[in-house]
Amino acid sequence: MVDMGESTNFTSVSGGLVCAHHHLYSALARGMPAPPATPTNFRQILELVWWRLDMALDLDIIRDSARLGALEALARGCTAIIDHHESPNAIEGSLDAIAEACDEVGVRSVCSYGVTDRHGADGARRGLEENRRFISDGGRGMVGVHASFTCTDDTLEAAAGIASDLGVGVHIHVAEGPDDVGAEERIRHLARPDWLLIHGVLLPDNHGVQGTLVHNPRSNMNNSVGYANPARFVIPVAIGTDGIGADMLEEFRLAYVAGRAIDVETTPETAWGWLEHGWALVPEAANDKVVWASPEFDPWFQAFNTGTSPISVEVDGEAVWSNGTSTRVDEQEVRTKAKESARRLFARLEEI
Ligand SMILES: [Zn+2]
Repeated sequence: MVDMGESTNFTSVSGGLVCAHHHLYSALARGMPAPPATPTNFRQILELVWWRLDMALDLDIIRDSARLGALEALARGCTAIIDHHESPNAIEGSLDAIAEACDEVGVRSVCSYGVTDRHGADGARRGLEENRRFISDGGRGMVGVHASFTCTDDTLEAAAGIASDLGVGVHIHVAEGPDDVGAEERIRHLARPDWLLIHGVLLPDNHGVQGTLVHNPRSNMNNSVGYANPARFVIPVAIGTDGIGADMLEEFRLAYVAGRAIDVETTPETAWGWLEHGWALVPEAANDKVVWASPEFDPWFQAFNTGTSPISVEVDGEAVWSNGTSTRVDEQEVRTKAKESARRLFARLEEI
């Protein structure tokens, strides 16, 4: 176990936590109107909820959503977000909108646009180009792919090629649900160690795909897709939220207890190691400083200490969170704008 930081009697210190898989565009989705029918499986959850939501996004909504999501990440001691974005009706410039919103708040971001052939070959081409353009222009990113089951082999190869040319990895959902069973056969020959493989619920133990597996236990439970049991893989594991906030300590607790539910010998150290692996993905975050209102910051204490909150957060030496709010932006203004955008987004959803 790596020592996460020094402690006093009442507070403890760590680096900034890393969310290894987020969808900042879903920050406004809370309270969205119920779908036109109740989804009965994973595919229908995508079709009736998320694929309608992403159609309704425009650049203003994306920006307001990302700003709120970044603010709420800092509030939970998360200083780095690896984001995966899709907005088929607002592709060009979407990654800049997210990166700029995170910059404003003072959160590190690694952006990617989730390429898919769901909207035809032109949609896939434009998604690839958004990744290429953003990263070539100096943006910090990866090449995003929605999932192999919504992409042709040509699109998967193109994404892998662009990532390789730009010296970054691919950020892709893998075997999350029954529709993507066999994903390993489609991507094994393309994947490299710098790829992020999201979920892996239905990956076989010996899948042979290179990369880091990102475990999102709350999302997997919420989508009723099953338990990924990441401890069975030989590749490194990190933790993400799949868009349900960025409270990484809470996600760690859930990762621990989900493992414990199937194996009484599981200890918090395993999930803690997954949490710490975020620093292999965004190394600078390890040098950020979070002061926690908690006397201990170690796996056995935190596994059972619900609601641990930061007192202050420093990113790159700058205090970006103190006294319960942002030092950079007016939190009320961010929330007011987000509420207006959410209202607009929900009105659009009623029409889709
Ligand atoms: Zn996801």
